[in-house]
Amino acid sequence: MKRMFWSMVLVMTCIGAMAQKPLIGISTGYSASDNSASVRFTYVDAVVNAGGIPVLIPLAKDSLAAAEVINKVDGLILSGGEDVYPFFYGEEPAGALGGVNYERDLSDRWLLQSAVKMGKAVLGICRGEQLTNVTFGGTLYQDLPSQFPNRPVLQHGQRSSGTLPIHHVNVEKDSHLYEIMGQEQLAVNSFHHQAVKDVAPDFKVVATAPDGVVEAIEGFPKYNILALQWHPEYFAQQGNKQWIKIFEDLVQRAVVNKPVLNEPNIKQPKIR
Ligand code: MN
Repeated sequence: MKRMFWSMVLVMTCIGAMAQKPLIGISTGYSASDNSASVRFTYVDAVVNAGGIPVLIPLAKDSLAAAEVINKVDGLILSGGEDVYPFFYGEEPAGALGGVNYERDLSDRWLLQSAVKMGKAVLGICRGEQLTNVTFGGTLYQDLPSQFPNRPVLQHGQRSSGTLPIHHVNVEKDSHLYEIMGQEQLAVNSFHHQAVKDVAPDFKVVATAPDGVVEAIEGFPKYNILALQWHPEYFAQQGNKQWIKIFEDLVQRAVVNKPVLNEPNIKQPKIR
């Protein structure tokens, strides 16, 4: 009888552990003028639809604050937003550079650095992809229409709804992205005028647009990071099962965090 009791306890504990949903931190936009932090509900709903618990992460004021919050979550989404500050990849500003958000760049870099140190799963989206590349030592085209060698480029800053795919991307078969999606070609939305130029060491390009623009990078196996130039959360919010897979993958990677910790070689450039 006693043994049966403990067997029941064990079964209940296992069920409890299985049912535990991972916490997915979402980096937020920061507006100094509004004194506010915010993020589109597309990200929140995409995480919910994939079985995760979304948690919004406000601007981290220093690396310790970033480490403390990352310690509490199981995975991290670096969300979209402004252009990345070009000083972070050693360039002067091109004439067509958009607005930058230095405080947010710092915060996102600290969050990413902590996530990598702790082996937490990361999904970078749009600016999150660009910032990941820059943080690990890559560079960006500051403005595709004026800088990309294969001109004219496709319309990467779409004027239609984000729920409408606007261009295709070709996916590398030997990639985690292909394992998730199972398709060599994907139709995606596009809200960017910057893109990866030199890919960061230990990352590889896993999707490109027909004009040659880099559309996705990943850091496996060294870094638990997938980063996309498009916005799958628009489709996932609507319940699109194929695109929810991107977020289910994040949730799965978050549940089985890599036990091996990485010490990323991230240097904060002196800019002031
Ligand atoms: Mn694009």
